[in-house]
Amino acid sequence: MRILITGVAGFIGSHLARYLINKGHHAIGIDNFITGNIENINDLFKTSEFEFIKLDVTNYIHVPGKIDAVLHFASPASPIDYLKYPIPTLKVGALGTHKALGLAKEKKSVFMLASTSEVYGDPLINPQHEKYWGNVNPVGPRGVYDEAKRFAEAMTMAYHRYHKMPVRIARIFNTYGPNMRLEDGRAVPNFMVQALKNKPITVYGKGKQTRSLCYVSDLIEGIYKLLMSDINEPVNLGNPHEIAILELAEIIKKITKSKSKIIFRPLPQDDPQVRRPDITLAKTKLKWQPEVSLEQGLKKTIDYF
Ligand code: UDP
Repeated sequence: MRILITGVAGFIGSHLARYLINKGHHAIGIDNFITGNIENINDLFKTSEFEFIKLDVTNYIHVPGKIDAVLHFASPASPIDYLKYPIPTLKVGALGTHKALGLAKEKKSVFMLASTSEVYGDPLINPQHEKYWGNVNPVGPRGVYDEAKRFAEAMTMAYHRYHKMPVRIARIFNTYGPNMRLEDGRAVPNFMVQALKNKPITVYGKGKQTRSLCYVSDLIEGIYKLLMSDINEPVNLGNPHEIAILELAEIIKKITKSKSKIIFRPLPQDDPQVRRPDITLAKTKLKWQPEVSLEQGLKKTIDYF
């Protein structure tokens, strides 16, 4: 297949492109490097199965030739990034999704949206299943990301219903691994860098809020299975193993053999108190579930950091 990936220089986009090429597909990558990193895709330029176009996907996208799938993975995705780039975050989720859908329609290709567990906001149920509508503050600082992705899902379903286009919506829960930016600001990169430098590990709030962390290779398998499926509705992809953030800080401190102290900092506004995917749908329909344990995944990630 000839597959286009927006956000190819990002954390997940770069792993996805490499995976698809290794599976024998041809990848066309797009990025504007707002938060993407050229180093994530440097090795791919050596293969003729990779093409790159530097482009902002909120503008008109023209790509010659056939395209079998359009995977829309472009977006700032870390809370500090979408606070820094609130308007580009809204634009890539809204205008960028519209442009990517338009391209998929023109090329008669399948469209996949990288959505997020943030569509559930600060959830009132735990774990979160796909039928839950979420608890989102539209005007809070995270609203720029959450609402852009909710709009993107609505737009994707509208193209599916009105234009009868095949679509896939991956609701991606917290994922970690190599190719995250060191200064990305999310919990795993922050804690890893702080622990490895023996600097204080910054836990926000009391660290009782929970997250469920998926190693990137597991996520990529799930994305591929979803792409190859015929499920047009949202599917949760994540690891259901839920832990408190303070516990995550302690595990990272232990496995890096760090001398860091754990210190507490104010909890950011609207920080979700709990998060855990219900992956029954992915398990039953995609025959997918994560295989890499948190310890194994974190150990694989240390070298990179
Ligand atoms: N967090 C933290 N210290 C940090 C970075 C993040 O305690 O240095 C917390 C953050 O408040 C949140 C959790 O870790 O409760 C996960 O944050 P992250 O930015 O990784 O992603 P989120 O799941 O909030 O999108």
